[in-house]
Amino acid sequence: MRPCELCAGEDLDLIHRQHFLFPGQVQPVHYDVVSCRACGFAFASDIPDQSVLNSFYQESEHHLHQEVPAGLSRIHDDFFAFVQRHVPLSESVRVLDIGSGMGHFLSRFKAAGLVDLLGIEPSPTAARLGMEVHGLEIRTETMDTLSATHPFDLVSLCGVLEHIADLKRSAGQLSELVEEGGHLFIAVPDGVSFGAVPPAEAFLEFALEHINFFSETSLDNLLRGAGFEKVDVISQHNDFYDNHYLLALYRKTGSRMETPSIDRVSASSLHRYVAFSQEKLACVEALARQLEDSGEPVVIWGAGSLTSRLLCDTRLAHVNLRAVIDRNKSLQGKSLLGVAISAPESVLQHAGATVFIASTTYADEIRRMLLDQYAWTGRIISLAPEGIVSR
Ligand SMILES: [Zn+2]
Repeated sequence: MRPCELCAGEDLDLIHRQHFLFPGQVQPVHYDVVSCRACGFAFASDIPDQSVLNSFYQESEHHLHQEVPAGLSRIHDDFFAFVQRHVPLSESVRVLDIGSGMGHFLSRFKAAGLVDLLGIEPSPTAARLGMEVHGLEIRTETMDTLSATHPFDLVSLCGVLEHIADLKRSAGQLSELVEEGGHLFIAVPDGVSFGAVPPAEAFLEFALEHINFFSETSLDNLLRGAGFEKVDVISQHNDFYDNHYLLALYRKTGSRMETPSIDRVSASSLHRYVAFSQEKLACVEALARQLEDSGEPVVIWGAGSLTSRLLCDTRLAHVNLRAVIDRNKSLQGKSLLGVAISAPESVLQHAGATVFIASTTYADEIRRMLLDQYAWTGRIISLAPEGIVSR
């Protein structure tokens, strides 16, 4: 069990158990989405072993976009504008971006004329691309390995804190990396927004790599406990991921607040999110049963996060599966349910099969590819955001 990282509480309320079956795995793994009965922090407990997570991260390198999609670029613009509203960014301001990826966010500071910029990133490929594409210094390091000579004026983490298992220790490290009076910028999915409207994709937010579900209150508890005070926090929608992010700016004071405030909203938001997701899933389940009963040959297109959940949450694992397709080369050749994952063009070997598109973000793109590039005449089932499309 993973005790509450904010108050060390061990009295946890189970909200949902999420199962995943990934390529190359024989048995599904799972985690439990829980909330702490003492302080209300919501997080994933009973998380898979670090080795499972590591192999998962290696496969996620397909997230590296050399040419940034416009939607993703806009997110970084929004993040930067928020920071700029609060922090005077003179040329000499020293910035550290943690989990910088290819440096898409850090490059905004370079464009604004700042020169003392450093990114750290565990993926060597991303770090190398960041240097090539943006001319930034990005080191293949983590907070654990970084030895900074002196603290930074601004430290940023965009889409990082939701991944970190050892939050308290990380918050302490952050405090050491920020100069007294300096700033910390955090962007993290807003857990309270999960339950606000029905999601486009069931349980999308319970991705294996997302193990902390912050609210403004729980984030504040973490950061105040590490010697930071709030400057401003907003919740902002982003179109690319179709969710809300908390944008939080904190200043280091050095005085720690040990008693957490009670978060009274996270658990109820996540309970609503689970109910919404189960409703959404019911349609997919009906469809999977239909496919199972008909015995028609099925090609699953997409071996990623959605498939990993649907194979456990629905009868999809019991259909007459002929092929699994994925564009991600690091997945090709691995097997899922005993079927080797293959490249898109191999779909042509299964003429007449039903293609089940297991992606919401890229559903339209894949559908167009099937029709235009492969002149596909078989049935296509797509879990498009507006509802299941089948023909
Ligand atoms: Zn707690």
